Amino acid sequence: MPKRITQKYKRIVDPLITKRDGNVCFFDKMPFVPEVLKWSKTYHHLNKNTEDNHPVNLVFAHEECNRLCETNPEYQTMSSQKLNDNQKYHQGLEIEVVAHNDEDKETNVEIDTNELYNKFANSELLEKLTSQGGKPAPHESISFKETSLDIAYMVREVVGHGSPITAGRALDTECSSKGEFDKYKEQGGKWRIRKKQT
Ligand SMILES: [Zn+2]
Repeated sequence: MPKRITQKYKRIVDPLITKRDGNVCFFDKMPFVPEVLKWSKTYHHLNKNTEDNHPVNLVFAHEECNRLCETNPEYQTMSSQKLNDNQKYHQGLEIEVVAHNDEDKETNVEIDTNELYNKFANSELLEKLTSQGGKPAPHESISFKETSLDIAYMVREVVGHGSPITAGRALDTECSSKGEFDKYKEQGGKWRIRKKQT
């Protein structure tokens, strides 16, 4: 994890925070005013460690609200509660943010998007093709191509870009001989996915 927030890191972490919290101040939920210093946007570190820049530990805040938090008990309670919520949120998404410290060079950070494709592919198939909570499965089969596009869209929502080809690969993995699902060609030659019969 980078010890300071570089421009490169901002491009990764900002969409994640925006997706999770919206582009507003965590404390008062008001928008930012870049021209006014006290209402401009900064990062608030929920656990007070300013070198801990994992997205779990970061929220957006006004300069002023970030400063107020040092002395405001209500804001401090909000921060520790939010840290808990974020831990749950990021566990659920299983987003891994990987940092490489490259000697003196700027810290390179990349998000493990493959993990995101796999996670979404798995959850889409489970949600659409398996029975949940005693209810029958919503679909008997689903289109491979449309599902690839849906997953690419979901990945794009999180990291800013998404590829249907990579999404298709993640679906193929779910349909391997050891997997729970089966890819087959319907009449007319289009690929579909169904749950394997056991
Ligand atoms: Zn604020």
